[in-house]
Amino acid sequence: MAKIRVGILGATGVVGQRFLQLLERHPQFVVTALAASDRSQGRPYAEACTWRLPGDVPRTAAALIVQAPEPPLDCDVVFSSLPSDVAGPVETRFARAGYRVVTNSSPHRMNDAVPLLIPEVNPDHLALLDACKGSGGGFIVANPNCSTVMIALALAPLAARFGVEAVVVTTLQALSGAGYPGVASLDITDNVVPFIAQEEEKIERETRKILGRLNGSRVTPADFAVSAQCHRVNVVDGHMAAVRVKLANAAEPVNLREAFDSFTGLPQQLNLPSAPPRPIVVRDEPDRPQPRLDRDAGRGMSVTVGRIARDAVLGHRFVALSHNTIRGAAGAAILNAELLLAQGYLEAR
Ligand code: NAP
Repeated sequence: MAKIRVGILGATGVVGQRFLQLLERHPQFVVTALAASDRSQGRPYAEACTWRLPGDVPRTAAALIVQAPEPPLDCDVVFSSLPSDVAGPVETRFARAGYRVVTNSSPHRMNDAVPLLIPEVNPDHLALLDACKGSGGGFIVANPNCSTVMIALALAPLAARFGVEAVVVTTLQALSGAGYPGVASLDITDNVVPFIAQEEEKIERETRKILGRLNGSRVTPADFAVSAQCHRVNVVDGHMAAVRVKLANAAEPVNLREAFDSFTGLPQQLNLPSAPPRPIVVRDEPDRPQPRLDRDAGRGMSVTVGRIARDAVLGHRFVALSHNTIRGAAGAAILNAELLLAQGYLEAR
């Protein structure tokens, strides 16, 4: 089968570079177009990428000339990692021009017509796109915020088995989550910043949409409260969340452990190329998960859960960790696109 041609918007950024790394030898997708700001436009990608993730620029991309993020682009699918203040109208213009847009950015996540997708958790929400299926028309599919994804993924087996009534979450978020150049070194060295703009609101509303029920042409959000507090910490990659959860039905910590450990989903059944063998990896050591030790679990696509215990206030607690630029961003979008392809929502234009 011919590979689907992919364009990346925001290709020179932290997430854009991660897209290129993950797509370098992808069996289904090939990168054919790159776009970024006017600072980079007209330059070969290798030259425009002044700041680099570790590793060489993929050879296939190095000589591609960076373009403006506007249609037309020479591709079938657009992966977007544009800053949220520019992504909204740009992604709408691509979708209106007939492109399938798979976005990391936040502006469209809460739109009724846009599936906010974690393929293991809510693949049925793709039915929101059924009117577009086979029509050749454009659409937008979003992956969640980089902290929301691990929280919703970890809550999914608990919601299914025991019901969830309330969630309180405290995050410790890595520097790469702020993009490049990100947080000033003098603000974060020897420090923790208890504020990340819009992050708490995103976790609170996105989690409920992802775990909500498809109801015709929209999703009814899950009817439990989520309360989030977010902190920027001096770690390069890997977001952590300390989660307290009130369950509807009685359960022992060992039952939660079993629910996490046995959790699996459609990407694993379909053997999608980016699907980790285990979406949730349970660690029993008392001092895990840790960013440096656990962020690369499942090639960055697994969420690691540990510290599962009783909680005197809400009933149960645990700690989750995942790689914010892989499962939290580029890897999540690629897995979304793999599911779209497997389910017949993508084809060469
Ligand atoms: P970043 O490192 O700041 O990269 C931003 C990218 O967008 C660069 O390629 C930049 O191009 C381009 N850009 C900036 N302003 C532009 C404009 N006015 N027009 C066109 N292109 C423009 O940011 P990032 O961390 O990769 O994040 C990108 C998006 O993904 C954001 O919406 C972010 O919220 C979301 N996200 C990030 C993470 C994460 O962990 N970092 C996780 C989930 C979601 P130049 O190099 O030419 O300036």
